This record gives sequence, C-alpha cells and structure tokens, in this order.
Amino acid sequence: MTTYRTDILENEPLAPLTTFEVGGPARYLVRVESERDAAAALAFAAARGIDHMVLGGGSNVLISDEGFQGLVILNRIAGMEVAEEGDRVLARVGAGGDWQGFVDLCVARGWRGIECLAGIPGTVGASPIQNIGAYGQEAAQTIEQVRCLETATGKAVTFTNEDCAFRYRESVFNTVEAGNYLVTSVTFRLVKGGSPDVKYRELEQRLSGIPSPTLADVRDAVLSIRDGKGVLVRDGYESFRSAGSFFRNPVVTRTRFEAVEALVAGDGTPTNWAWPLPDGQVKVSAACLIQRAGFERGYRRGNVGISPHHTLILINRGGANARELVDFAAEVQQRVLDRFGVLLMPEARLIGFGSSLLAGLP
Ligand SMILES: Cc1cc2nc3c(=O)[nH]c(=O)nc-3n(C[C@H](O)[C@H](O)[C@H](O)COP(=O)(O)OP(=O)(O)OC[C@H]3O[C@@H](n4cnc5c(N)ncnc54)[C@H](O)[C@@H]3O)c2cc1C
Repeated sequence: MTTYRTDILENEPLAPLTTFEVGGPARYLVRVESERDAAAALAFAAARGIDHMVLGGGSNVLISDEGFQGLVILNRIAGMEVAEEGDRVLARVGAGGDWQGFVDLCVARGWRGIECLAGIPGTVGASPIQNIGAYGQEAAQTIEQVRCLETATGKAVTFTNEDCAFRYRESVFNTVEAGNYLVTSVTFRLVKGGSPDVKYRELEQRLSGIPSPTLADVRDAVLSIRDGKGVLVRDGYESFRSAGSFFRNPVVTRTRFEAVEALVAGDGTPTNWAWPLPDGQVKVSAACLIQRAGFERGYRRGNVGISPHHTLILINRGGANARELVDFAAEVQQRVLDRFGVLLMPEARLIGFGSSLLAGLP
C-alpha cells in the first residue's frame, strides 16, 4: 500500500474552506500538492473503504452541518508549463492554482481567451467541472485537455475538449462521470495578441468609451461590473458569504417558455430575461423567475437571504447554518415550481444532505 507522506488531519472544520462559511467537519482532510500526493490520498481512502471528495476553493459547494464522513482532498497542486507556437500558447496549469491569478497572468502576458472570466473565485482544476462562464466566455472555449486521476484506480487519464462534453454549466465531470475523476492539471489554448472579442452587451456598454480596449481593459471592466453586483471575493471589495449563483438558469421547451412568458408578462415584461438556443429550447433567467415568485434582492429570512445586488445569490448573512440555507433554497425552488412549473436546479454542489427536492438533484 502507498504510504502517505503528508499529514492527514482528523475532524477538520470545513466551513472556513468554503465561501458560504458553513458546514461541519471532515472526518479526514489532506492537502495535496502533486499528482503523486493525490494518488496516495485516493489510495488512503480506498484502503479504509471511505468516500472521498475533492475541494478546491470551496466557492461552489454547500456542505451540510454534519460535514463529510470521508476524506476531503484539498487540491493545491501548483505549477505551470508553457509551449508557444506562432500566435498560439498552450498553458498547462496545476489544478490547485488560483483561477483569478491565472487570468491576471494571461492578461499581463497578452494571452487572449479567458479575460472575461476574471473575478470568478476558485481553482483552475474546478474550471472544467461546471464549465465556468461569464460575460460571453466559457472555459470550454479555451480548454485543450484535462489531466485527471481516475479515482477508483489512481490511474492518470487525459480528456480532450471533446471528451469533456462541455455544455452550459456542465461537463462529464459533474454529470455522467461525477466523482470518478480528480483533475490534476488543465491545458488551455490561448491566443497571443489581437483584440479582445467582446460579445456581452453589458460589457460592450461598459467599454464603449474606450476606442480599442486591451485585455486589461476588458478584465478591469468585468471586475468593475462584478464589483457592482457584489460578486467579487477579493480583499477590499464588498462581498457576501455565498456560492455565487445558487441556481442554474433553466433551459425549457418552447411550449413551456410560452406559458412562462404569459405569466411573466402579466407582471410587466422584464428585459433581457430569456435567450433562445439553437436547438429550439429557451434559456430563462432564474433570477427573473425567483424575483417574480416573490423574492426580491435583499430579502431576509433570519440568518440567510438574497444578496442586495443579485437575486440569484443566496447568502449567509452571518451565523447561518447549512440547514437554514438549504431549507431557504428549497422554498425558493418550490415557489418557482408552483408559479411557473419550472424546476430550478442548484448550480452549487450540495454535500452531505439527506433526501430533499434540492438534494435529489446533482
Ligand atoms: C461570489 C461568487 C461568484 C461566482 N461567479 C461565478 C461565475 O461568474 N461563473 C461561474 O461559472 N461560476 C461562478 N462561481 C462559482 C465558482 O466560483 C466556480 O464554480 C469555481 O470554478 C469553483 O471553484 P472551486 O475551486 O472553488 O471549486 P469547489 O467549490 O471547491 O468545488 C466545486 C465542485 O468541483 C469539484 N472539484 C473542485 N476541484 C476539483 C478537482 N481538482 N478535481 C475534481 N473535482 C473538483 C468539487 O468536488 C465540487 O464538486 C462563483 C462563486 C462565487 C462564490
């Protein structure tokens, strides 16, 4: 059996490792700094017949008050290797690297492709899991390869972009293969030079006074928009204890959309709340449905509530526990279902909850 060279901690609090700042302890926790460490951690869990889970920056999880009765593998695998060919750059980045730090590095070196994803908290290794996206870009557009360890065997496996089956907030890693792979590095394909490709209306408006925006202008404009919405987890910025958007924007059939539209129109039609997709379905703003179901920005319920800046962001107002948060989320979900017949799916990963409408979902 592989012996473990770093410390395995027992009954370690998880709340400080998450942006919601709630949740009970991990039975075991280990910090891994290399692929070898990660393989040894998986072997430790297998030898004891216990579950494991990978934690990056803890910005997309809601951990139950009971915590996690297995091994939490805290991914801190660092490092970067770069290969340049013409105007192309391939950057292979350790999964434990800080996402925002990587965006800043790309902007500083003039590498184009992820500047609109500035300000998303978390690690590089989590970027393919839910195919992070914002302001007109998605990780899927630049990810070349994802290197992983198969959790059952510890064997290294490389996924191409196509293998990852990226979709809106989805990949194989949070659907058909959820829990089966531990990401150890991600290779991004970036472009040297050229002008930034800005497609998102709010961002275009923010940049309209700048004749030829640079990558740094785009990054800064994104950060300033995010600051206005209270979604920057950075020193010196107002932030909230949250997991960002708690629910995904639902994708509904055209027929369901027409029914929802009629209900929404009854209250005065909002702008920019529905986006037709190439397959005929329609992506609808979850924030709009939540608001029309009676939950306004700044809504408070004891220690939990909704961000004063963004309806989709459920927050721990201070002193909340995970049960209060999940009960509130379930109520929001139920009210939207009752009013619009649309089931909101959580974007945040729920860990250690029993059966509930919310926990039954991925
Ligand atoms: C204020 C705020 C704003 C946000 N804005 C956005 C946004 O604009 N767009 C967006 O897409 N997301 C956003 N998010 C969500 C979150 O930041 C991203 O999903 C991020 O990629 C999560 O990274 P993490 O390292 O914190 O992952 P964690 O929360 O630690 O983990 C999330 C999931 O990924 C799994 N995981 C993490 N690392 C690995 C790994 N190496 N191998 C295998 N599985 C792994 C975990 O097991 C878990 O299931 C926001 C969150 C917050 C708090």
